[in-house]
Amino acid sequence: MLRGLLRRVALTVTFRVQAPSPRALSPGTPLSSRAAACPLPPAGRRGLCSGSSGCWRCGAERASGEQEAAAFFCPSCRALQPPDRRRDYFQLLGLQRRYRLDAEQLRRSVRRLQRELHPDNFSRGSEDERRFSEEQSALVNEAYGTLLRPLSRGVYLLRLELPGEAGLGEADSGEDPTFLAAVLRLNERLEEARGPEEIGQVSEEVEARLRELDGEVARAFEGGRPRDALPLLKQMRYWSSLGDRIKERLLPR
Ligand SMILES: [Zn+2]
Repeated sequence: MLRGLLRRVALTVTFRVQAPSPRALSPGTPLSSRAAACPLPPAGRRGLCSGSSGCWRCGAERASGEQEAAAFFCPSCRALQPPDRRRDYFQLLGLQRRYRLDAEQLRRSVRRLQRELHPDNFSRGSEDERRFSEEQSALVNEAYGTLLRPLSRGVYLLRLELPGEAGLGEADSGEDPTFLAAVLRLNERLEEARGPEEIGQVSEEVEARLRELDGEVARAFEGGRPRDALPLLKQMRYWSSLGDRIKERLLPR
């Protein structure tokens, strides 16, 4: 019975975790699959796969993914380059690949890149450059959306650390009974809560559990135990779902 109820809890809310773009490959990816990941150029266009050649305009060798600033623009002629699909979201935003990140640093980096890549800057450029600026801006926004929230960041990092392994999408099994009981108890309290004050108390408990899990997930990644992060992220998903339902209840009707 517990499990059925819990499944209902998980299904009543939307679970929005951005899966890593299949094209944002990790640095360890063999070259052959890198080449396979290059998008085909539109008909009648020169091949502009950024993973295999130099600058599309002057042919200069492009900087590697590590050299963050240079990766968007050609170091030689300063032309805006097409998205480099070899780079993951952390590299794209010039951040260290780790779970714990400085939200202010993330925002600063995204704001700066959005300014530099803004389509207005390329209004007098070629058609290719205007397209690159749109593609690069969209990619930066996608990376920001994924890395901002702890849950989606954790899921993304887990997929980078353990490529090819089943993640959160798999059927839930063997959840800790103490955890299941806690989820159900707080769900019941939310159902029975009368007024914003009681709902607020449930919200505080949920937030406290999310903070606790955040710390545990960070320790699992930092300790080189990414597998340990999986069950924690699953728990985080339940609490986040409940947190979303609480926000819905608190919205003025
Ligand atoms: Zn160039």
